[in-house]
Amino acid sequence: MKCRHCAQPLSLPFLDLGSAPPSNAYLNATTLHAPEVWFPLRLLVCERCWLVQTEDHAGRDALFTQDYAYFSSFSASWLEHARNYVQRVAKQLALDAGSCVVEIAANDGYLLQYVQGANIPCYGIEPTASTAAAARNKGLEIVERFFGVALASELVANHRSADLIIANNVLAHVPDINDFVAGVAQLLKPYGVATFEFPHLLRMVNGCQFDTAYHEHYSYLSLTSVVSIFKANGLQVTDVDELSTHGGSLRVWAVRDDQQGHPHEKIEGASRVRAILEAENSAGMRGASFYRNFQAEALRIKCETLRFLLQCREDVKKIGAYGAAAKGNTLLNFSGVRADLLPWVVDKNPAKQNQFLPGSRIPIVDEAHLRRVQPDYVLILPWNLREEVTAQLAYIRDWGGKFVVAVPRLEVFS
Ligand SMILES: [Zn+2]
Repeated sequence: MKCRHCAQPLSLPFLDLGSAPPSNAYLNATTLHAPEVWFPLRLLVCERCWLVQTEDHAGRDALFTQDYAYFSSFSASWLEHARNYVQRVAKQLALDAGSCVVEIAANDGYLLQYVQGANIPCYGIEPTASTAAAARNKGLEIVERFFGVALASELVANHRSADLIIANNVLAHVPDINDFVAGVAQLLKPYGVATFEFPHLLRMVNGCQFDTAYHEHYSYLSLTSVVSIFKANGLQVTDVDELSTHGGSLRVWAVRDDQQGHPHEKIEGASRVRAILEAENSAGMRGASFYRNFQAEALRIKCETLRFLLQCREDVKKIGAYGAAAKGNTLLNFSGVRADLLPWVVDKNPAKQNQFLPGSRIPIVDEAHLRRVQPDYVLILPWNLREEVTAQLAYIRDWGGKFVVAVPRLEVFS
């Protein structure tokens, strides 16, 4: 396989999770009786541009199905994050009723609702029908397509160019990253600004976050690789923020590279960009050895998780999980956990309840189940929402229940 960005042949392995079904391919009572399709799940590193990427496999159409069940609005902390961002960026870029804001991967309108609320014209791009419908219910305009150069050209021809393009947690999820970035450069007005949020590869490695690997997550990005991908596709990085979301993310600010003397705060931003590039360099991200230990860390977490679940079984302790999210599926399928060791997972999203996790086939139940069963342990699968979930489920302490996280190491706490 060749690098998705620079076409260099790939040979350096980063992570091999065997095989897994698409992480959002939840099963219902009918499909539970049908076979599932499992795809190899391997990550490789490009030794020229340092882009970490999943190995090629079936096309995205098989992955992003009509019943795609991830709705951003189900996380209170993520909504708060979106609201704060909109407030800041509207002020910083002086957005008003004459501006145009575009969000790519607008999901259920979790963010654009705040742009609309500030009376700034906006529209979203979202290929998934169920989330697009939820966004329209909020009164938002949604273009229901995959984004790239082809769609950007059509939008520009229809005078839909943007002062601000927002791309949160989508850059890592597109198979053709060059086409995506070139599309953003094209859709921006001459002095437009684009911001991109994505999990930071440095934090993924330092935090042993191997469970953020899944098929739909094609790229694992460092600022080093992003600068090179943007440069090749008509954008220049002007600033970067470090965020705590998704276990440690970057928000990269970019402008068209044909706009010299751009009014966006260039000088201060440049020093922040340089600082993170230097941090990546001193961590060794431009050398192969940085990437070689990750597999062993994933295996360690798998063993710790299994050991704990087996001990619960032996001690006749009741355990269940919270959060039917993609990263949980990666952990459970790599660890070979099934409903006999982990009998249920609670999720707040009614669209997921009464379904089953892909691969492990663990049933998804509503939160009332937790109060009925009164488990000794609740394994929080989305460890990035640890504080939010612990606060929400504080009542399990009433019956002596304890929380467990598996990443970066197995930890039991009350
Ligand atoms: Zn490359």
